[in-house]
Amino acid sequence: MHLSKFPRIRLGHFDTPLEAMPRLSKLLGGPNLFIKRDDCTGLASGGNKTRKLEFLIADALEKGADTVITQGATQSNHARQTAAAAARLGMRCILLLEDRTGSRDPSYLHSGNVFLERLMGAPTRIYAGGTDMNDAMRVVAEEVRAGGGKPYIIPGGGSNAIGALGYVNCALEILTQANQQSLVVHHVVHATGSAGTQAGLVTGFEGSRSGIDVLGIGVRAPREAQEQSVFKLACETAEYLDMQGAVARERVVANCDYVGDGYGIPSAGMVEAVTMLARTEGILLDPVYSGKGMAGLIDLIRKGHFKPDENVVFVHTGGSAALFGYMSAFHAQLPDEIDTRNIR
Ligand SMILES: *Cc1c(COP(=O)(O)O)cnc(C)c1O
Repeated sequence: MHLSKFPRIRLGHFDTPLEAMPRLSKLLGGPNLFIKRDDCTGLASGGNKTRKLEFLIADALEKGADTVITQGATQSNHARQTAAAAARLGMRCILLLEDRTGSRDPSYLHSGNVFLERLMGAPTRIYAGGTDMNDAMRVVAEEVRAGGGKPYIIPGGGSNAIGALGYVNCALEILTQANQQSLVVHHVVHATGSAGTQAGLVTGFEGSRSGIDVLGIGVRAPREAQEQSVFKLACETAEYLDMQGAVARERVVANCDYVGDGYGIPSAGMVEAVTMLARTEGILLDPVYSGKGMAGLIDLIRKGHFKPDENVVFVHTGGSAALFGYMSAFHAQLPDEIDTRNIR
């Protein structure tokens, strides 16, 4: 796979570290857990969208665009990283946010990613849940054109064959690091949503014949629909790389048992996972994706899904900025009241 044939601009700090999590492994009684720190991509608090945006923004620039338009949920990490990428390139950025949770918690509506996007100068428009967001983006693109601008639409999550190249690249990076560390990777586990991350990883790991199993923990759709959308995008990505047929359908595996009450709605498992990682490894997960992904991994470990001597790499896809939009979900986990006697 010759990724340098595709236009790419550098936005992130790569390679991100591949590290052991000895305290978490011990607490759970094995397997050996490792973490790929894609929360450390460096773009305005980082995350998995940075890798995709390196290829997507390069394509936008090649097409002469001056304005990027994208969409996501209210606390979208993708929207935040897109705003940061646009700021770095001096492009305009318009964000369309869909109210998928119905939360009216002021911190959900104004803090976390929403605050950071506005800090970076991107106007945000919030739409009712269930809006056809692709259609809404087309309308905004027309407005930009009417004003003399040149819009470029990035799909939700940056998930198309161009964006997925970022995770083909991540698969190759993990393989190189594993080889350098003499680490045999048996499984890669991560949160899957708009499918680009898993499609890219599977294409990279299968295209290089690594034999590594990838498991996506779903955060929204049921299993069959999630696997289908990942498989479809993996096929498109393989074709874009001139590797038609590189990914077999049965190599796309998702587990969607950890969604809980719905996309972006806190679950008890997520709260446990976020708190556990914070307290055993000092690692901040997020409430919508990596928290539920880790909740799935923890539960599967407890059910004996992995052999005790296997090596499992969790890809930390970022998103900790969203924690500030979800503080209320964690109140019961926090130590007693803050002691303010000394400032009274
Ligand atoms: C977007 C996102 C994901 C999901 O990645 P997809 O490529 O959309 O499947 C996982 N974790 C975080 C923190 C994200 O922001």
